[in-house]
Amino acid sequence: MYHAKQAGKANFKFYTAQMNVEAMERLSKESALKLAVKNDEFINHYQPIIDACSGKAVGVEMLMRWQTPTDLVAPNHFISLSEELNLIISMTEMALERVCKDLKEWHTIRPEFYVSINLSVQHFVEADIVSFISDLLSRYQLPADILRVEITESSLISQPENAITTMRKLSSLGLTLALDDFGTGFSSLSYLKKLPLDIIKIDRSFVSGIGINEADEAIVDTTLVLAKRLNMHCIAEGVETVEQLNYLVAQQCHYIQGYLYSKPRSAKKIMENLLLDKTELISSNC
Ligand code: C2E
Ligand code: CA
Ligand code: CA
Repeated sequence: MYHAKQAGKANFKFYTAQMNVEAMERLSKESALKLAVKNDEFINHYQPIIDACSGKAVGVEMLMRWQTPTDLVAPNHFISLSEELNLIISMTEMALERVCKDLKEWHTIRPEFYVSINLSVQHFVEADIVSFISDLLSRYQLPADILRVEITESSLISQPENAITTMRKLSSLGLTLALDDFGTGFSSLSYLKKLPLDIIKIDRSFVSGIGINEADEAIVDTTLVLAKRLNMHCIAEGVETVEQLNYLVAQQCHYIQGYLYSKPRSAKKIMENLLLDKTELISSNC
């Protein structure tokens, strides 16, 4: 019945043995995930965001990992299930505690260093992420502008009014707000007007077309012009080549995130680079 319902209204499906296998797999994944939350098995990795004209990391994006006894599991294997099971709320809260502890250490070296976190649609439904973050910042005595929040267009679709209210409250607290994966969802440009956004993140799917596909370049260029006219700035994601870097900088986008500079790393590794005052590749177009 559930398989038929999933395929749309007024549908039917014949039972196959494969359905049992899938149901069993899901059940075991669900219980493993619930147990992992209980046992606090998630860790924060951080991917640097570099100012390509100074060569310095200005902040990082926090990307969660599941540390099982044998593997480091990437988020695409557990985030959507944790959202369905509503575990994402407590997972994010625990991750934010770790973020604050790490920020306290990093700030001894670079006080403006920031962390960007990803929020899910569940954060706009019932949980009070605003008071959680506000309490957390005062508990750790951290200023609000060192926390950034990323939301995707798709998370706006199902709860637009709640999302707008929450985003406005977070913005009033002093947090910086970014629209993630811009251009890949189904949302309308009117969100750019309704939300108190500061940053648009240019998606990897467009960045990867630089130098290869004129349509991707046109989308990148137009996003940058749009952001500028709206008094926002852009961060380019998934930058892997020097050619992409130089193109973006020539188009006035110099905040860069991608494997060219670094994959997501542990908090310890980020600290090591801050201690070294590491300078990354500076674009020849600066
Ligand atoms: P995202 O927010 O779009 O994060 C960027 C993803 O692109 C990360 O994948 C990052 O490792 C990857 N990436 C960055 N630079 C490059 C590059 O140059 N090349 C390639 N091929 N990939 C690059 P990751 O860590 O696997 O995360 C996947 C997604 O999982 C994230 O996409 C985000 O939507 C979600 N996610 C991760 N952590 C959290 C979290 O704590 N909460 C929520 N709600 N979602 C999270
Ligand atoms: Ca993100
Ligand atoms: Ca993204």
